[in-house]
Amino acid sequence: MSVLSPSVVGMSIGQPGTDPASAALKAAYPHGVLSPSRAADFMSCPLKYRFRVIDRLPERPSPAAARGTVVHAVLERLYDLPAGQRTLERAVEMVEPQWQRLLENEPELADLFADDGTERGTEDREDLASWLAGAHELLGRYFTLENPNALEPAERELYVEAALDSGLQLHGYVDRLDVAPTGEIRVVDYKTGRSPSEYFEAKALFQMKFYALVLWRLRGVVPAMLQLVYLGNGEIVRYIPEERDLLACERKVSALWQAITRALESGDWRPSPGPLCDWCDHKALCPAWGGTPPPLPERTVAEVAEESGEVDLVTVDG
Ligand code: SF4
Repeated sequence: MSVLSPSVVGMSIGQPGTDPASAALKAAYPHGVLSPSRAADFMSCPLKYRFRVIDRLPERPSPAAARGTVVHAVLERLYDLPAGQRTLERAVEMVEPQWQRLLENEPELADLFADDGTERGTEDREDLASWLAGAHELLGRYFTLENPNALEPAERELYVEAALDSGLQLHGYVDRLDVAPTGEIRVVDYKTGRSPSEYFEAKALFQMKFYALVLWRLRGVVPAMLQLVYLGNGEIVRYIPEERDLLACERKVSALWQAITRALESGDWRPSPGPLCDWCDHKALCPAWGGTPPPLPERTVAEVAEESGEVDLVTVDG
């Protein structure tokens, strides 16, 4: 992540139209910085991006997201074992320790399984045993899709970062990178949800093309394959990208950053209601659903810029 100069840190994003703040943002990140998560947020709904990045409104953790994090961690560490020992039994043994590790970092997640005395409604809670069983089930499905003993990933949870010709800096974490002896690169992403409808598939492929673009810029090679492994229903979606796909992705992310910059300058963060609203934690504040957003907060430029380029340490999905 870029380092802000001391003269920039501490300046504030003010109310709509305050030019000094957006000028300071541009000074700190003259060409912008973007992760696939935040880009997807803005694409699906600019107001949701605002709530997350500018307002930094808290969002409730969900059992599905926490399970996704644990399963990703297990699949990463499974490949620490030598080939031949990467069995479902060993993977299942890793679930509880990885859950404990996650809890150490995010103790509030214990609330997901609290019996009482919390703000969460009973209907939001899950029984820990069935939650763990759900993680085991996802791992079992993984073993029906790939044989981890026949794979030697070149990279796992790989942080990638590259600047485009425009100067826009892109970064993110790739779940797994396989490199063939002949040099071909396969980008692999695990999804703990089900394979999506056409509407959501485009979103998932955008994330993969984003990574492919960064890898192309970093290594000078267009990845030979993008592979989404859906553990929710046991499907693999493969896509063979071409240079023109990645050039189109480059134009798209550059246009996105320009749109984000315009919204920062104008304070105009429009809601874009759609099927995802039912999963939006901020629906009650959304004017598309009769709510009123809070006043735009005073935010430091550093906070906004950091959040705009925020990357998920571990990809989670429902
Ligand atoms: S409820 Fe829908 S339209 Fe409103 S902020 Fe959330 S995603 Fe956007």
